[in-house]
Amino acid sequence: MDYLPLFLRLGGARALVVGGGAVAARKVEWLLKAGAQVTVVAPALGHELAARAGRAELTHLGAGFLPAHLGAAAVVVAASDDSQVNASVSVAARERQIPVNVVDSAELSSFIFPAIIDRSPILVAVSSSGEAPVLARRVRESIEALLPARLGTLARFLGARRSAVRRSLSAAARRPFWERLIRGRTASTLLGGDEPTAVRLFEEELREARRNAAGTLDGEVYLIGAGPGDPDLLTLRALQLLQQADVILYDRLVPAAILERARRDAERICVGKQAGDAGKQAHIHELLVRLARAGKRVARLKGGDPFVFGRGGEEIEALVAHGIRYQVVPGVTAALGAAAAAAIPLTHRHHSHSLTLVSGHAATDESLDWRSLARSQQTVVFYMAVGQLPHIVARLRAAGAEAERPAAIVEQATLPAQRVLRAPLAGIASLALRERVAAPALLIVGEVTALAALADAAVAAPQSRAVRAGAVA
Ligand code: SAH
Repeated sequence: MDYLPLFLRLGGARALVVGGGAVAARKVEWLLKAGAQVTVVAPALGHELAARAGRAELTHLGAGFLPAHLGAAAVVVAASDDSQVNASVSVAARERQIPVNVVDSAELSSFIFPAIIDRSPILVAVSSSGEAPVLARRVRESIEALLPARLGTLARFLGARRSAVRRSLSAAARRPFWERLIRGRTASTLLGGDEPTAVRLFEEELREARRNAAGTLDGEVYLIGAGPGDPDLLTLRALQLLQQADVILYDRLVPAAILERARRDAERICVGKQAGDAGKQAHIHELLVRLARAGKRVARLKGGDPFVFGRGGEEIEALVAHGIRYQVVPGVTAALGAAAAAAIPLTHRHHSHSLTLVSGHAATDESLDWRSLARSQQTVVFYMAVGQLPHIVARLRAAGAEAERPAAIVEQATLPAQRVLRAPLAGIASLALRERVAAPALLIVGEVTALAALADAAVAAPQSRAVRAGAVA
């Protein structure tokens, strides 16, 4: 280890920055955030630093650097574009034992700036010891994605209540109390942005802990949309909650690559549903309630979005009926994932003014308005349609859709085996049969599916196979 990471308290201390350009401005920004009194030595200032000088946020000495400028500085940064000036700043600072950073020169520096994640008061600093700053920034981005945006709010919230907890609980009870609090409802509610509820929950939990230091608290359920399959299409919140959950209840449609993103020691339960299996759905409700009652944080992970043909509504009704707290995290629904991956614009100023999502299961009952689904200038996406294709096409045609209306099928959208098949409406069912299309797949009907041909050359998933009616032997 070539460097010792420390957090330096600079409030009110003097910091000297040599150089007036954009690089100096970045360093000045951090120094000011840390509360330092900044003096900038430079013959001229770039517009950013000039603006700060204009607002009296820093002192500007319009001169070349002289060792006398060091004065009582606590830290020095050399950020001029003249390497000789930077070297002389380094020598003068080291002689006076003042910590110095020379931008782009670890050798001339006695300290370096890390890549910083600022969720004050939580700070994360990442460094490659000057070897590979771009890699350090990449590491920072990965960590950044895992840290909730309101982490700082949570830290302040907990900090403000430390003395109340100290007064209420014995030393032995405090640590488990904080642990439970951070993993539980109070923290997730606050991170979700609902501070008034978090305040109430905190008080309840503290009262409860006082009554029974060993008492367990109820868990909660996260109803999470996992997106269409590509793990990179998970939302940041989905990822954060998957990292927290004790138990994951997932559907058959959720691929292994997504489950791998969950906490390593979380219990994983496949509740793989067959379509329309009412008994199984009741079993899922019962499992959710039982696990949450046992104090677990349960991630209910569903393909796409939980509220689009996902029975999320029924699950939250069951949770509400049993007084279990829950959060819903949206996911990229299959229609959106498929459209993006196949470059099909779902709406278009000249070709489609509305988008309808239809359940293919409903195709056989009389609940759908086929005349309206058959109209042109719109996009209709059928989910769960693989077994019903000839029937759907016949109903649309009978309701007035022309044989030539463009259509497409996207199978395994956003997954490595994705296939996009295109044909006029009258030919799409037989094309699917020839190509042995299997679930999960979507049928998209509308003029916009023909536009996708323009984008074939730019299709995002290079492994995706495109099949077109005319081109199939
Ligand atoms: N809640 C999910 C839909 C569940 S219904 C969502 O919002 O996407 C299951 C149907 O979704 C499948 O029969 C199929 O029609 C569609 N589907 C889900 N994932 C898909 C994928 N990766 N590619 C194509 N269709 C998909």
